[in-house]
Amino acid sequence: MGHPVTTGSPFTRWLEADPEVARLVTEEYDRQTSTLQLIASENFTSPAVLAATGSVLTNKYAEGYPGSRYYGGNRIIDEIEELARRRATALFGAEHANVQPHSGANANLAVYHALLEPGDTVLAMRLDHGGHLTHGSPASVTSRNWRFVSYGVTPPTGDEDHPGEVIDFDQVRDVAKSEQPRLIVAGSTAYSRTIEAEPFRQIADEVGARLMFDAAHPAGLIAGGVHPSPVGVADVVTFTTHKTLRGPRGGAVLCRADLAKKVDGAVFPGLQGGPLEHVVAAKAVAFGEAMAPEFARYARRVVENAKAFAAALSAEGFRLVSGGTDNHMVLVDLRAFDPELTGKTAQEVLDRAGITCNRNTIPDDPRSPFVTSGLRLGTAAETTAGMGPDQMAVVAALIGRTLRRRDDEPTLAAVREEVRSLCAAFPAYGSAPGGGGSGWSLERGTARPR
Ligand SMILES: *Cc1c(COP(=O)(O)O)cnc(C)c1O
Repeated sequence: MGHPVTTGSPFTRWLEADPEVARLVTEEYDRQTSTLQLIASENFTSPAVLAATGSVLTNKYAEGYPGSRYYGGNRIIDEIEELARRRATALFGAEHANVQPHSGANANLAVYHALLEPGDTVLAMRLDHGGHLTHGSPASVTSRNWRFVSYGVTPPTGDEDHPGEVIDFDQVRDVAKSEQPRLIVAGSTAYSRTIEAEPFRQIADEVGARLMFDAAHPAGLIAGGVHPSPVGVADVVTFTTHKTLRGPRGGAVLCRADLAKKVDGAVFPGLQGGPLEHVVAAKAVAFGEAMAPEFARYARRVVENAKAFAAALSAEGFRLVSGGTDNHMVLVDLRAFDPELTGKTAQEVLDRAGITCNRNTIPDDPRSPFVTSGLRLGTAAETTAGMGPDQMAVVAALIGRTLRRRDDEPTLAAVREEVRSLCAAFPAYGSAPGGGGSGWSLERGTARPR
C-alpha cells in the first residue's frame, strides 16, 4: 500500500533510516485510516499541526517563559510561545494563558499546586459518574496530596422528556456547604450534556471556594461557539489541545491576570522542566485553525453528528445515559440491549470489526471499571474525516449488528469490510479513490470547508 507514513512532516522520509519504527508508524497510519475512530478524546490533526510537532523546535531547551529563560538562543522560541499564548487568549477571550502543560493531567495538577495547600479539600465529580482520574482517583497522586469529596448525577427517571442523569446541583451545593472545599472542579470525561459554569460559580461563591473548569473534552466546542464558555466565570480553565480542539497532544491553562504568576510558577518550575516547544508551536497552529470560520462549522457538525448517532443508537435498542447528547459523545448503557454484554466484551468485539471505541463506567455501574456496562463513543475524529449524519446512522447499524451477532465470525468479517470501504470513502488524510473526500487535503494542507 502506498500510504504516506505520516503526513505533512518534512522529516518523514528520514524514518526510512529506521525501518522498524517506519513500519510501525505506517501500520498505525493504516489502522487509523482504515478503521473507525470513535474514541471521544481523539481526533485527526491537520498536516500543519503534524509538521510543527515534527520540527526542529524539539531540539531547544527553553525552561522559563518568553523574555525570561534560563538558556540562551530563545529569541525565536519566545516569539513562538508568545504567539501561542496570544492566540489562546484571543480564541477564548481569556486574560492569561499558559501553553506549556505537557498534558491535560499536568494542567490540572498545576492548578491544584497553584491554588491549594497540601491537604486542602476539593469538590469534584465522582469518577464513576464521569470525573477524571485527576479529580481525586485513589490511583492518582491528586488523592494523596489533597482531600477530594464528590458530587454526581441525578438518578435516571425512565421519563423520556426528563431522563435525569444530569449534574445534581442540589448535591453540589449540599456537599459544598458541609465540606467547605477550597476549590470546586467542574468538568467531566464522560458526560454527554452541556456543562454550564454559572451554577458552579454561584455555589463556589456561597462557600468561598475557587472554581476550576476542566474543559478537556469540550474545548473545541467552546472555541467553535457551540458550547457556553466558562472563561470569565470560572477562576481558572484547564483544557487539552488534542480532543475536540484538534491540536497536538497537550494541555493548557487559562486564568485571570491576577492568577497568572501563581499558575505560571506552578507549571514551571513547580511541576515541569523544559517545555515542549515543538508542541507549543503546534498548539499555536491549532489555535489559529480554531479561529477560522470553518472551525465553527466543524464544531456544529460534530454536535449534529453526535445527535444523529444518538438517535440511531437508540433505534438499535441501546439506552443512552441522560437520554442523548449535547456534545461530541454518547455514553451507551449496554444492559438494555443485552444484559449479558459487558463494556469490555463490546469493546473487544467492535475492535475486531474495525470499530474503535472504549468501554466506560455508567453512573452507578454494577460492574468494575475494568469490565463496565457502558461504551463511550465520540464523533470528533470522523467528523474531521468528513462523515455526516447519514454515515452516523450507518455506523450505529454496524455497531448493533456486530454486537447482536458477536459470536458469528462471518458477521465480524463482513462488518470489517464495510468499515474499510466507509473509511476509504471518508479519508482523514488525502483523497478518496475517485478524488472525493473531505478530510485534510494534503495538497493544500487545509480542510475542505463543508
Ligand atoms: C482527557 C482529560 C484530562 C487529561 O488529559 P491528558 O492529556 O490525558 O492528561 C483531564 N480532565 C478531563 C476531564 C479529561 O477528559
